[in-house]
Amino acid sequence: MKIGFSTLALFMNSFEKFLEKGSEDGFNLMEILCEGPYWPRNVMSMDKGELEVFSSYDMEVYLHSPTIDLNPASLNPGIRNETLLQLKETIDLAAEIGSEAVTTHPGMIHRLEDRIRLLAMEYAIETLQSASEYANERGIKFSIENMPGRSVYFCNNSLEHQNFTKRCQCHATLDVGHANTTQDVESFFKMNNILYYHISDNNGEKDEHLSLGEGKLNLNLLKGLKNVIIELNDYNNILKSRDILLNLNKNY
Ligand SMILES: [Zn+2]
Repeated sequence: MKIGFSTLALFMNSFEKFLEKGSEDGFNLMEILCEGPYWPRNVMSMDKGELEVFSSYDMEVYLHSPTIDLNPASLNPGIRNETLLQLKETIDLAAEIGSEAVTTHPGMIHRLEDRIRLLAMEYAIETLQSASEYANERGIKFSIENMPGRSVYFCNNSLEHQNFTKRCQCHATLDVGHANTTQDVESFFKMNNILYYHISDNNGEKDEHLSLGEGKLNLNLLKGLKNVIIELNDYNNILKSRDILLNLNKNY
């Protein structure tokens, strides 16, 4: 099992600090949340020398694309185009720093009428298919994450998640916290194209990002997984959850 962490917990630090801190604590995997100061367009305009720091650490890096205010399912073509552009920029950044994979969200629709939801779903798949093709050309793995169990989101159940990733010919990032807010967390684990996992705990209703063991997640589901990103706001809680994961996986 490879255990890593989301840089969400170290927000506002430099890339070097992320790498240094992660290595010190024995992590060999991390996911950079590309929002705010780590927005790909900004990062790509930085001095390329600053990005060389990634090659001096033995750390596998994944990127989480910007998703705030973007939406691949938007009924508005301007928003869809901007979403695709920023996905491509994230993929370019991944190629630049030697990152293996880019994860993104499947989008959302605030109208519940079936025909509108279906139309938005087709838009989302079209946007994400183009991003997936672009990633393929650049040798980057593209992955779509499942969302919490609320009707505004796409991929709020394993069937839809599987369908999105199949049609986009890409991987799945299984957010275990999100899955735990659906009525059927176990079905997500049966998907056959999971690239890695986002791990956090919750009470089964809200996506609370609690440390492992503090919510109602069945921790037995976390045994024997391959690549895991702990996704919590607080770095000390990441370390606590890491120890719980290690303990659970002693025999794997
Ligand atoms: Zn996410």
